[in-house]
Amino acid sequence: MSTTTSWKTADPVHLEVRDLHLAFGANKVLRGVDLDIPSGQSVCVIGPSGSGKSTLLRTVNRLIEPDSGEVLLDGENTLTWNPDQLRRQVGMVFQQFNLFPHKTVLQNITLALRKLKGLSADEANEVALGQLDIVGLRDKAGRRPGNLSGGQQQRVAIARALAMSPRAMLFDEVTSALDPELVKGILALLADLAAQGMTMVVVTHEMGFARRVAGKVAFMDGGVVVEAGPPEQIFDSPAGPRLQQFLSQVL
Ligand code: ADP
Ligand code: MG
Repeated sequence: MSTTTSWKTADPVHLEVRDLHLAFGANKVLRGVDLDIPSGQSVCVIGPSGSGKSTLLRTVNRLIEPDSGEVLLDGENTLTWNPDQLRRQVGMVFQQFNLFPHKTVLQNITLALRKLKGLSADEANEVALGQLDIVGLRDKAGRRPGNLSGGQQQRVAIARALAMSPRAMLFDEVTSALDPELVKGILALLADLAAQGMTMVVVTHEMGFARRVAGKVAFMDGGVVVEAGPPEQIFDSPAGPRLQQFLSQVL
């Protein structure tokens, strides 16, 4: 398993979420989310199930349109952009991998390179194989995702996102669907990427990872960021009762 990587984070971006609101019918899921992710920083988002963490990431990535608020990249409001323009700069990886089951590993990676970046088939193959090298799966390029382990599938999903040379990355519980012995390898990839200076938002239940890797930890509950700060502050001196209660359940 490869732990050395050669990702070059080109030009990381300052990502900022301001007063984001979203309701599904009567269910107000985001109630004014504020989150600042300085350029090159990793922010871990923690919080109970149903607090709006996935919805936040999906809204930032424009899989859902918010009702109001702003998502800024280096100060520009991306909500006025075409979603493809945003997704060329911000990559996302999901808990359930979301790979195309009937395409090969290589095709899963080249598809967006060709469609969103306009690369030729040869160019896209070269970029994709380079990314598969980094995650240690070049020899699986011709396989279908269903023939790989969960950990391998998640590596492919990460390689697919990074092949786009994103300026920021969103990770939504990317180890939650994995067998315990596969979790460490994926967290190591994320830690490597953070060390390379990628701007990242990592929704996770891995508190040890958050403490080690995050520049900042944000605690979400009820559709807002209730507390945010350096990991020591959040884990060792939680200010409010909601965070204190959450930590007492998960630590
Ligand atoms: P978390 O990721 O923190 O567990 P989610 O963002 O997945 O929370 O969900 C927050 C709330 O939004 C939940 O009440 C969930 O049922 C609701 N929700 C999420 N996605 C949808 C959707 N597509 N349609 C309707 N309700 C949704
Ligand atoms: Mg979720």
